[in-house]
Amino acid sequence: MNEINLKDKTFEVFIPETEISAMVHSVANAINNSGIKNPLFIAVMNGAFLFAADVMKKITIHNAEISFIKLSSYEGTETTGEVSRLIGIEDNISGRNIVVLEDIVDTGITLERIIKLLEKENVADIKIATLLFKPNAYTKDIYIDFIGKSIPNDFVVGYGLDYDEIGRNLPHIYKLKN
Ligand code: 5GP
Ligand code: MG
Repeated sequence: MNEINLKDKTFEVFIPETEISAMVHSVANAINNSGIKNPLFIAVMNGAFLFAADVMKKITIHNAEISFIKLSSYEGTETTGEVSRLIGIEDNISGRNIVVLEDIVDTGITLERIIKLLEKENVADIKIATLLFKPNAYTKDIYIDFIGKSIPNDFVVGYGLDYDEIGRNLPHIYKLKN
């Protein structure tokens, strides 16, 4: 089945499951060969749940740990404006070597927020791994250490990524059909 309907939209297969699997292996191998010691992987929910699970099974680094966070944004009172915080951050991650696992980096605004919040925790090192990256949408200077695949500015769903909370269960990645 090459096409799929989610709510009011039609999507077509863009990255089949077999290719996703190869991307995951390549990211995991690069992390394994990076020399990082005692890593604490931090998967950004909800979108990264399948990527994180599949990458972790391929990680061979001694003492690898994983934790899960969610970025919450809400309107602060008066002058503070929008406030972000990380839900689920461990009590003490100071001094840890962090590998952030993201589903997709688009403008990079989310990534920048996450990094700022992690830096406040005095971690030793932060590396970024993302399954998908949209270079033409990226507005930040933050170096992305591990990229599964760079893609054009199409809206994609599947393998963890949602359209209005649905489609996360799809084994392939689909793109919006124009
Ligand atoms: P950024 O802050 O980098 O602009 O966007 C990051 C977030 O936007 C991602 O974590 C993801 O939730 C959402 N996003 C960006 N592009 C896409 C896309 O093509 N498909 C889906 N489903 N979500 C996207
Ligand atoms: Mg995300």
